[in-house]
Amino acid sequence: MNLLEMIKDAGVIGAGGAGFPTHVKLASKAEFLLMNAAECEPLLRVDQQLMELFADEILQGFEAAGRLVEAKEAIIGIKEKHKDVIRHLNERIQVLKLGDYIRVQALKDVYPAGDEQVLVYELTGRVVPEAGIPIQVGCVVVNSETALNIYQAIKGNPVTEKYITITGDVPEKLTVKVPVGTPIIDVLKLSGIEDFQGYSVIDGGPMMGPVMENLSGFVTKKTKGLVILKKQHDLIRRKSMTVDQSRRINRATCEQCRMCTDLCPRFLLGHDLQPHKMMRVVGYGIDPDKTQEMAMLCCQCNLCELFACPIGLYPRAANMFVKQQLLDKGIRYECKPGELQAREIRKFRLLPSKRLVARLGLYPYDKPAPMSEKTVVPDQVSIALVQHVGAPAKPIVTVGQRVEAGQMIGAIPEGSLGAAIHASIAGTVTEISSAAITIRRD
Ligand code: SF4
Ligand code: SF4
Repeated sequence: MNLLEMIKDAGVIGAGGAGFPTHVKLASKAEFLLMNAAECEPLLRVDQQLMELFADEILQGFEAAGRLVEAKEAIIGIKEKHKDVIRHLNERIQVLKLGDYIRVQALKDVYPAGDEQVLVYELTGRVVPEAGIPIQVGCVVVNSETALNIYQAIKGNPVTEKYITITGDVPEKLTVKVPVGTPIIDVLKLSGIEDFQGYSVIDGGPMMGPVMENLSGFVTKKTKGLVILKKQHDLIRRKSMTVDQSRRINRATCEQCRMCTDLCPRFLLGHDLQPHKMMRVVGYGIDPDKTQEMAMLCCQCNLCELFACPIGLYPRAANMFVKQQLLDKGIRYECKPGELQAREIRKFRLLPSKRLVARLGLYPYDKPAPMSEKTVVPDQVSIALVQHVGAPAKPIVTVGQRVEAGQMIGAIPEGSLGAAIHASIAGTVTEISSAAITIRRD
């Protein structure tokens, strides 16, 4: 089996949250392989610790991926504030004799340093085309946990566990490793809270993660962080706003100051994304047409809503509203020819993470969440068929069948984009639904 097949067989997907199947990404040829180790979402502490704890494995997985795409150089992008991790990585690069291939490049502590297109620009000076992907400028990007999973795939170990930071307004902030498919509620309880009435949970980082509607879900290969806050926290209130509510508020009060546009990371990269114009479309009740196609360029980083707008409006939601209307009409973004340049003003408009944390009201919770030996040993796991971009995995087990931990239980449907899934515990398959395969521990 070649390396790409090993990665495919192990069900490796982008562990940073995107969930794109890694074997598809690494099937391209690229000039640069980039590691996204920026972890720019406030409060999350997974990647920075993995790189300290598993530096050799991550570097070897990263190197293997780099050779696979025939990259001439592999660059790790990590925030400059993680000085100890950078020192450690540089030491291990020398020990492993990878210094002529892999280098570490420090990033400013700004949000969103980990946006794939921002990362590509910071590490290579290249601007990904509007509505484009990094390979169009010769780059492939993998997350550090993904690099660890590539290493594990080479060793024959599929993705069956996930590292998660549990943080927020909790007695104990920590980072844990749990089996994929573990009930979220059991993971949350590791924080020291037993009763979650009065709390809301953000699935992911505080900026881009949604507020969970209920806590009855299960860990997936993409689960990166669980941010627990009191229901009355302002961030929860703002993130819980429905599209209709935000549209009503947007209509009433936008003063067209254009701060949302001036600080938008994609606008600053040179893309023609101007959320203040989408506020106008919503405000005047304009029926969107192709002239508003810029709404499609939004990466939903939420900077405009949660930081830039001085009066707390919802420009991201306006973008999303317009985008949905355009998609409903079958309108797609048409990329303009020509190379883009980042805007001159960009370097003066980067958002320091500390200011963002203060604005979000998260300063009291911006603390370490150390890697813990604590874990969950679930009696039952529910492994989602879709944890990735693409088609649902096709079950290859039957109800009543006994499975071993690590056994493939769902395969990629023939000719589809997708990722395989594996049993995270040994046990018996008790249910197969259109959404998940449930396994009860023997
Ligand atoms: S949405 Fe807010 S930041 Fe954007 S133009 Fe309107 S008032 Fe200004
Ligand atoms: S969410 Fe706002 S700031 Fe972020 S890319 Fe979209 S428009 Fe720009």
